[in-house]
Amino acid sequence: MTENEKNVVQDGQVVTLAYTLTVDGEIVDSSEGNQPIQFIQGKRHIIIGLENELYGMAVGDKKDVVIKPEDGYGEVDTDNFVDVPRDQFPEQIPLDPGVELELTDQNGELMDARIASVEGDTVRLDFNHPLAGKELHFSVAVVDLRDASDEEMEHGHVHGDGEEEDGEDAEE
Ligand code: ZN
Repeated sequence: MTENEKNVVQDGQVVTLAYTLTVDGEIVDSSEGNQPIQFIQGKRHIIIGLENELYGMAVGDKKDVVIKPEDGYGEVDTDNFVDVPRDQFPEQIPLDPGVELELTDQNGELMDARIASVEGDTVRLDFNHPLAGKELHFSVAVVDLRDASDEEMEHGHVHGDGEEEDGEDAEE
């Protein structure tokens, strides 16, 4: 690459991105006060709608992006609502709409759910992603760009400076 060529976001680059996510006029997530996120462009580590908007951005560039549900966390799926009898819940859990629960399925996997409604003895659980069906308003800034190393490309994730190698690496 010559000095005149602008270094811009493309596949195989480690992108350091500052972001603020606003949904329904409220900030639901932000890197402000935290570390910006780091990921390898093209690996679909971030939602596809946002990743697609980053191509061609240079360090210091800022952008506001609106992402439709289908390119974000998907539409609300009515199959993801499940009715459960009230007496299946431990007594100490407050059974109110909006309460978030962590449940274990038959295979021992943890699942996040929210109480959608309570009617009589029936509690309706919502297993949709909390941002399903929502339009996502991202405000992003590219903080840093560098080429991913061969090892990072092979592993499919970013290796931090001086960080402990992850478990996946240790096995290799
Ligand atoms: Zn690794």
